[in-house]
Amino acid sequence: MRQTLGLPPLTMPTLSNPSEIAREALRQLALRRVAPTPDNYHKLYHEIAGTRPDEDALPEAFVRKLARRLPRDSAERQRHGHQLDQALADGRSKAAEAALERYLDSLKLGEPQAWNELIGNLLRQWEARQTGWTPARKREALDRVLGAADPAALYTRLQGLLRSWTQAMTDADALAVEVPDAADDPAEAASTGAGASAARQPMPAATTTPAFPVSPAVDTATVDALRELVTISLGEALPPLLEEHPPLRETAASLCAEIASRSEAAGLREVGTRLRGFARELELAAADEAEIRAGMLELLRMLLRNIDELVLDDRWLAGQIEMLREIVDSRPDPRKIDDAGRRLKELIYKQGQLKHTLAQSQRHLRDMLAGFVDQLARFSESTGAYHDRIGQCAQRIAKANDITEIGPLLDEVMTETRSIQDEARRSRDELIVARSQAAEAQERIATLQNELEEASRLMRHDQLTGALNRRGLEEMFQTESARAQRRGTRLAVALLDIDHFKKLNDSLGHKVGDDALVHLAKVVRQHLRPQDVLARYGGEEFVILLPETGDTDAQQALIRLQRELTREFFMADLQKVVITFSAGVTRLAEGESLESALKRADGAMYRAKQAGRNRVMVAPLSDAFIR
Ligand code: GH3
Ligand code: MG
Ligand code: MG
Repeated sequence: MRQTLGLPPLTMPTLSNPSEIAREALRQLALRRVAPTPDNYHKLYHEIAGTRPDEDALPEAFVRKLARRLPRDSAERQRHGHQLDQALADGRSKAAEAALERYLDSLKLGEPQAWNELIGNLLRQWEARQTGWTPARKREALDRVLGAADPAALYTRLQGLLRSWTQAMTDADALAVEVPDAADDPAEAASTGAGASAARQPMPAATTTPAFPVSPAVDTATVDALRELVTISLGEALPPLLEEHPPLRETAASLCAEIASRSEAAGLREVGTRLRGFARELELAAADEAEIRAGMLELLRMLLRNIDELVLDDRWLAGQIEMLREIVDSRPDPRKIDDAGRRLKELIYKQGQLKHTLAQSQRHLRDMLAGFVDQLARFSESTGAYHDRIGQCAQRIAKANDITEIGPLLDEVMTETRSIQDEARRSRDELIVARSQAAEAQERIATLQNELEEASRLMRHDQLTGALNRRGLEEMFQTESARAQRRGTRLAVALLDIDHFKKLNDSLGHKVGDDALVHLAKVVRQHLRPQDVLARYGGEEFVILLPETGDTDAQQALIRLQRELTREFFMADLQKVVITFSAGVTRLAEGESLESALKRADGAMYRAKQAGRNRVMVAPLSDAFIR
């Protein structure tokens, strides 16, 4: 239900872009001549957006104030608090709400009732007996858990430990009830010889694989299949994850070999017990690793915060810092880390070069200033000597008895004066040269500093749209095509070109043309998946790489983009501008170069233009071989 401020309903289409809605709300305030109060503005805003004002929403100023006061007394709360700060700073209210919820959840751990329960459980399990857990092992595991860095981590790890103890008890019970093993039970052993155990006769599985509870209906084939699954998990899936834990890797290998070789119930049961112990060790190792990762990320975050404060002037670091902050604040993603690593390496090299030149220029300027001071000192020394000698001449002139004595003295004065004049002229000339050299050096230093800042931002990105430039595209292509080949997945390449862009430039101006390019890049980024790569290929041409995507799926993705673009028009002054594009997509052939795939995509794009524009055509892979 729209609230209409008691006025006729709006005739315009519903806008979805918040800044356009805000602008329209302001326009309507003026148009309808309602009092420009915040309340009226909000009502109009929601009326235009077709949304309801959120009555549960907390006032933003209040949330900000609250966020500043929240204690950050554990790694977890620091993390949620930081995410809340970020979301507030970026104006993402949904994300802020979610971060606040997470923060509040973290407080629950501190509730005395939860700890009471946990400690009560711990005492009960400590007294109880579990398979595979001797008192010494229990003490050792508890010691390790008690080493947790903060209460939240301690709580989680204690819970994990309790879970494994409880599980060990349940498993032991299950085994005892469901798979009695004749060899372990003398009474049972006595009865088997008579062949009387009719109920046991049709249960071959129970005697071959009781490593885990087995129901009578399980047949040998199923057991073998299960055994194979367990050996795949232990022998193939786990080892790559245990690179950093050689002892665990060895245990996995030996367990795998044992499971493959044993078939009798008792043997498998023994392996089962070891397997459970191994699972617990894995659990503890995983908890340790998670803690280490959280700790390292927190350290990195602190470091980034401090760098920011320490090097306020070194704005050329801003790009790197921003990039690292993005990585630590989001879920670590190998693609992003890989990309950031390459960008940093390149930057470090480029900045190293620039800084060297900068240091040289600064040294040069310093030397020049030192020379300048020397020159001044020499000049004042020579003028001091001149004064002394002229003073002496004056005394001798005063004492002279006749004009013939004065003549040579005046000559001496003239000579001294001329030489000091020469000296002064030379010094002045040298000073002028030095001054202009100093100004030049200073200018060079300023330019180099600007270049350093720029380098940080734009090594592989297009300045206008922030998409990758050609160089960035080439690098990403190398990474993505290698990844696709390694994993045997597909990689789609799309080339898109804005329709009638020249006309747009001519009618609305070059600046609006530029804004259209920025808008297109923004919409593409918003609606494609994070792993898709956008690059500006030329003036109004863009390339998109779509990993793990075939050509028809890529075509659908681009058609979706076209739909979004018509929905999300942009405003030039008060005019709505809708841009469309034509595109060609293709799938990369094995070992194919970017240039060759783009040539094929370009052909399809040309066909899309011919067919009337605003469409997406596919160039089938077979075209790659029609050269
Ligand atoms: P078509 O639908 O056939 O693609 O028509 P078009 O007008 O888009 O194609 P054409 O290639 O003839 O024109 C491209 C225009 O893009 C020409 C150039 O002025 C403009 N252009 C290229 N780079 C930029 C840029 O960075 N900013 C702006 N504003 N315009 C650019
Ligand atoms: Mg073009
Ligand atoms: Mg064009």
